[in-house]
Amino acid sequence: MKIALVSTGGTIAMAQATCQDVSSLSYTAEFFARELAVSHGDDIVVVNYSQLPSSHFDSGYSQNLADRLMKLQTEVQGIVITHGTDTMEETAFYLDLVLPNAIPVVLTGAMMTGTQPGYDGVINLQNAYQVVREPNSAHKGVLIVFNRDIISSVHAAKVESERPCAFGSVQTGKLGAINGNEVLYYYETKPHIKLENHPNGKVFLSKLHCDIEPSLVRYCCGQVDIVIFECFGGGRVPPKLLPIIEDVSRDRIVILTTRVFGGHLYDEYSYEGSYHYFLSRKVIFSPLNSLKSCLLARLCQGNGMTFNEMKKAFEGFFQ
Ligand code: ASP
Repeated sequence: MKIALVSTGGTIAMAQATCQDVSSLSYTAEFFARELAVSHGDDIVVVNYSQLPSSHFDSGYSQNLADRLMKLQTEVQGIVITHGTDTMEETAFYLDLVLPNAIPVVLTGAMMTGTQPGYDGVINLQNAYQVVREPNSAHKGVLIVFNRDIISSVHAAKVESERPCAFGSVQTGKLGAINGNEVLYYYETKPHIKLENHPNGKVFLSKLHCDIEPSLVRYCCGQVDIVIFECFGGGRVPPKLLPIIEDVSRDRIVILTTRVFGGHLYDEYSYEGSYHYFLSRKVIFSPLNSLKSCLLARLCQGNGMTFNEMKKAFEGFFQ
């Protein structure tokens, strides 16, 4: 098999030069290729794409990466991407929205640097390679492999800031696992919309809290094309923001999601600012978390969608 190994940076690529130093970006794709237990007959195509922490990425970065991967996809049978964990779930989901499901594409990384005890980069990398080589990994969308778990990019979220069990799966269980030489899958992924690789639009994303300042919210909403609120629970907004949402939704896209880790938007209440209040308003209820909503909204906007088309694209995710 011909497999591409694309390195982008992150903790998996970091090490200390001496034990007095703080860690810095050190390992290239060639280093990672040497750490793989390459299966007999496999050809590894090494791509040093970038050497950056993932907190330096944005969707412009993902757009360029996706362009590069689309070309690579015609030459190889699988792609492993090493990536920082901070924004791995965003890059993975972005790629999932724009890449055809032609070949397995897997992102992985590490929580420890190469010179820290318990460096998890090598095992995660080897597991990612195992998953990419597994025929059952085809057509499952872009995946994250971490800490022996396989997680769908639609559900992936960073759930630990320092430990090796850094990724969880929101709304559903993990997609699969690596058990020794075996790659196990527990269920099938659901197909979703694919979009052209053109993100566009400025976004204001805010978590709602009890003391949120309406004048600041009004100001920020006025600067952007897309507004995303992480609402209370099943989709509730404090009454002081309702006139702002009413005004903003006339000529901008307003997306509501929840600030709660799991669950969707729904309630049975009749009071102002509840889910039912918004049912008759021009807002999109997103079944995705705010980070993923942001990427989907920018791609919908860049693909020239109307409000109703965008609403359908969001609702289609878990229908
Ligand atoms: N600083 C890292 C990053 O690039 C964190 C990590 O990879 O775990 O995201």
